[in-house]
Amino acid sequence: PERASGADWTGTGGTSDGHRVKILANVGAAADATTAVSRGAEGVGLFRTEFCYLAASDEPDVATQRAAYAEVLRPFAGRPVVVRTLDAGADKPLGFLNTAEEPNPALGVRGLRIAFDNPGVLDRQLEAIAAAADDSGAEVSVMAPMVATAEEAGWFTERARAVGIGRAGVMVEVPAAALAARELVEAVDFVSIGTNDLAQYVFAADRQLGALAELNDPWQPALLRLIELIGRAGTDTGRPVGVCGEAAADPLLARVLVGLGVSSLSMVATAVPAVGGALAASTHQQCARAAEAALAAPNPGRARAATREALE
Ligand code: PEP
Ligand code: MG
Repeated sequence: PERASGADWTGTGGTSDGHRVKILANVGAAADATTAVSRGAEGVGLFRTEFCYLAASDEPDVATQRAAYAEVLRPFAGRPVVVRTLDAGADKPLGFLNTAEEPNPALGVRGLRIAFDNPGVLDRQLEAIAAAADDSGAEVSVMAPMVATAEEAGWFTERARAVGIGRAGVMVEVPAAALAARELVEAVDFVSIGTNDLAQYVFAADRQLGALAELNDPWQPALLRLIELIGRAGTDTGRPVGVCGEAAADPLLARVLVGLGVSSLSMVATAVPAVGGALAASTHQQCARAAEAALAAPNPGRARAATREALE
């Protein structure tokens, strides 16, 4: 079936023939975490920590951060949670970090870039995350946003290891990072594709502009080709490749992503049952065929149609 209801979704993600794919939730606050558990998410693939501080005018101290993170992590004791370090700047400016005027904030000093001049901010956050992991019992990994090179990825991984965090990864949201997929994946324990920003930067189309929504469509074959590149790097090296952008919440596209080598999907919690159910209704080979069909299409509409046909 093209779209399963999710009614028989069991909470262990994968295809009908047993190819395992983790079905995870995106969260920004404790209330989201509770919803995610109730919808059957296996864990969290993206905890947007900057949402805790959108109103803060000063950097919260380590104890304050630790308490805020532990509250979100607690419902996931014993389960995997990927905590993203502050993704400040562009559409999410933070009062205590983004102080300089920039002509193009989306292309400015945002995400991990802020930490290159302020490593203390990152180190204090990593320390708070490590402590919150102990407090909550969640299996915590950390992930950096807006990484452009494998070198930056390696720099982040070292800082995470320095505070005792065992698993560190990066988001793939910058086209340069996707094009260097192999080196990038080898510098970390895992990567997760942020399709919202990756689409914005691949198509040079502001993700906040409704007028450019067609270019920001995650079914654009050019975007899928970049995802294929990253998926292959993951498959070749045995390192996990996830998707945590809105694309993962589309039950049809989720199967294309799995066919491209993606091994975890993280989405808004309400989409978990439908995506988990849709995946459970397809074989791994059907996903591979769907991916091939979508990649060969000339535009998003034809990619959707070709995928539906491949899954019949
Ligand atoms: C993304 O860019 O796809 C992503 C998941 O991060 P955010 O939406 O928080 O920028
Ligand atoms: Mg992003």
